[in-house]
Amino acid sequence: MSATEQHHFQAEIQQLLNIVINSLYTDKEIFIRELISNAADAAEKLRFLQSSGQAVFQPDTPLAITVTTDDKANTITITDTGIGMTHGELVENLGTIAHSGSKAFLKQLAEDKKPDANLIGQFGVGFYSAFMAAKRVTVFSRSSQADQPGWRWSSEGAGTYEIEPAADLPRGSKIVLELKEADKEFAQNYRVEQLIKRYSNFVPFPIELNGKVVNTVRAIWARSKSEIKEEEYNEFYQYVGHDQENPLYRLHFNADAPIAIQSLLFVPAKNFETLGMSRTESEVNLYCRKILIEPKAKKLFPDWLRFLKGVVDSEDLPLNISRETMQDSSLKQKLNTVLTGRFIKFLEEQAEKEPANYDKFYEQYGRFLKEGVVTDFSHKDALGKLLRYESSTLDKGTRTSLADYIKRMASGQTEIFFLLVPSREAAESSPYFEVFRAKNFEVLFMYDPWDEFVMDHLNQFDGKTIKSAERADVKLEQPAASEADKLTDEQAEALAKWLKESLGDKVDAVRASQRLVDSPAVIVDTDPMNASMRRILKGMNQPTDGAKQDFEINPRHGLMVHLEKLRQTDSTLASKVAEQLLDNARVAAGLLEDPRSMIKRLNELLEQMVKARV
Ligand code: ADP
Repeated sequence: MSATEQHHFQAEIQQLLNIVINSLYTDKEIFIRELISNAADAAEKLRFLQSSGQAVFQPDTPLAITVTTDDKANTITITDTGIGMTHGELVENLGTIAHSGSKAFLKQLAEDKKPDANLIGQFGVGFYSAFMAAKRVTVFSRSSQADQPGWRWSSEGAGTYEIEPAADLPRGSKIVLELKEADKEFAQNYRVEQLIKRYSNFVPFPIELNGKVVNTVRAIWARSKSEIKEEEYNEFYQYVGHDQENPLYRLHFNADAPIAIQSLLFVPAKNFETLGMSRTESEVNLYCRKILIEPKAKKLFPDWLRFLKGVVDSEDLPLNISRETMQDSSLKQKLNTVLTGRFIKFLEEQAEKEPANYDKFYEQYGRFLKEGVVTDFSHKDALGKLLRYESSTLDKGTRTSLADYIKRMASGQTEIFFLLVPSREAAESSPYFEVFRAKNFEVLFMYDPWDEFVMDHLNQFDGKTIKSAERADVKLEQPAASEADKLTDEQAEALAKWLKESLGDKVDAVRASQRLVDSPAVIVDTDPMNASMRRILKGMNQPTDGAKQDFEINPRHGLMVHLEKLRQTDSTLASKVAEQLLDNARVAAGLLEDPRSMIKRLNELLEQMVKARV
């Protein structure tokens, strides 16, 4: 009886494999990086077990990665002496999708016209990239647990894999790739050497290729800045960040007090989360004296800094501490405080020194800073300094800081004003903007619905209250029109009263406005949270009914002057005009639910107007 078991890949894995095998033609070479990175992880895990005092199988075997190529047999083999896998782990790790992020990646890959193989490692499915170049992949693995036997896992990537016992294996894993005819370059020593140097130079274990060590095992972050070349930094980033591009920012930061830190942090050029991918996970690895304590360390930074990649090394950390205890350690909290403060300061310096580059950063990561304002009370004010917005006094596309806004504030202005609008054009023609234009008060233009939350949380900047232009209590001192063209206070009051009766509970209160110049009427929100919530709900296509607003009318507008007369002669037509005015104001406020009933009414009004003229 054969001891070979047949297993089926989980449906998602098979789907992934189909794409990997049939549609990924570029960047095939990255499979070497991914497999070496897995080998290095396995070695790190073993080192961790040993350092925390656990018994392992073959404890004296040194940690190393070995690569051999055979250009006659067309194979490449990657071996490590790490923790290996048990039978259960082979089934679990090389047959199912473990991470939730991977499913999002799969979806993205399936939809992409030009799927990017390079992303594969970022989503925790790097192993399967082997099938880009191999027609068969065989894994020999023996767990570091003393009583576990060895296993042989093998597959062609089509539906099934098989597992059978393998006798006399040493600790760790050996992965054999039988290369496709078209990919036999990966069985060439020179080609593989080039790739290991490119992608895996900083792997913290020696990598031996056909008997010769080819990588530079150096903890770059522990060296002095002046010794490190730009390319070394970039290479290191590409290794820790699984990225082919150079980073957007780099911060190499060392400190002795209040805690010893050597850190090298990077901001990737592109932000995958902003591109609509699932939530990114922080990829900053925590070391103690160059030994990995916790990969992708949790709570080392606040959540809104989860886009950072790199390394933090602190010799103050206890080496043999379990990861669970690490989570809550006050040392980690200290690291968090120092590192976050330093990184915010770094961003401030960059914004000052190289505004154009900061703009690029802001484009990709502005959302995270805003998330910080809302979720991270202790850094709220510092983050306020990093925000940038378009503004009524600057050209389209140019952004200002709140600090610069304050420097430009008009005399007599005591508050910071912002207007949440879908676009620059909408801002400039918004009825809410009229009074500010007339008074020469600068208004920040915000286009992201979350900005209203952000401003609510920030509330103040440099002692100045931040106010929505829609809710600000700003009045025109001088009536814009001559007395004859405007309603008297009594007339305006009478019209307002009639409008309230006519519109009923479609609006809360109706009153004459002191802020309108060119528009006949405007909607004013009385409940601050409601407005932002409604816009966000509307953006998500959720129903937003139930909320009501005040309706303010412009006593200096011809339409209102005439409406006051019309309501006394033809109240049916006047009522229709009133409803249309309300809908127009809702459109201007970006809050109209369903424009269809309005179109019908508008056509009726037009018909009446045309009829009256012929
Ligand atoms: P990731 O490494 O990002 O988790 P992979 O698809 O590359 O995703 O690997 C899946 C899992 O398989 C790994 O998390 C690890 O548990 C296991 N694995 C892969 N290669 C090795 C190896 N050489 N030694 C031990 N375990 C491995």
